[in-house]
Amino acid sequence: MKLLVVEDEIKLGNYLKQGLMEAGFVVDVATDGLNGQHLALTEKYDLIILDIMLPFIDGLELIQIIRKENIATPILLLSALDKTQDKVRGLDTGADDYIAKPFDFAELLARVRSLLRRKSKDIKPTKIQIGDLSVDLIKRVVNRGEKKIDLTNKEFLLLEFLLSYKGEVVTRSLIASNIWDINFDSDRNVIDTMIKRLRNKIDNDFDKKLIHTVRGMGYILELR
Ligand code: CA
Repeated sequence: MKLLVVEDEIKLGNYLKQGLMEAGFVVDVATDGLNGQHLALTEKYDLIILDIMLPFIDGLELIQIIRKENIATPILLLSALDKTQDKVRGLDTGADDYIAKPFDFAELLARVRSLLRRKSKDIKPTKIQIGDLSVDLIKRVVNRGEKKIDLTNKEFLLLEFLLSYKGEVVTRSLIASNIWDINFDSDRNVIDTMIKRLRNKIDNDFDKKLIHTVRGMGYILELR
């Protein structure tokens, strides 16, 4: 996932780049509106984090330029202007979310992830391929290579859920509340048992494992 940060405060720009890189993103930083415009229009990004007060072209103007070019990349506005009017203007102009400075990095990261998820849901793929695993979400057909894999309804939902977070850690409590609507503390065995069953079907007979345990956190589905 590649992000563009347009921020003229060098220190803040570097801080964001560092934090986002540690979170696994590839990050370009532009330090003024003109450079931001150039990068936004010539490179392909999954998300743009945009300051409002910028030299040459301000953030609100830049949103209009980007949207005029039919670039639908999600935009998270970043600004010291914590006034309702500016938020409204920013969102009306085509930004997707807004966070006021000073902000907590964890909150910024949560918003970034949320926007990226929303974006991937908008596209609504009907088929997902990861390694030799292919999942037809409409027909509910799962294959690894040539081998068809039969899943129960719950197993399929679990796989679909893990795929929607592909490459990100999914906690047991997130699985519990989304797939089973149960209290994680009292029913954690349910999750582990179901993961085990899914693994037996998806991974056991294959060299390349796709479902990995992240100790103390949960599970991650990815090709390693
Ligand atoms: Ca600024």
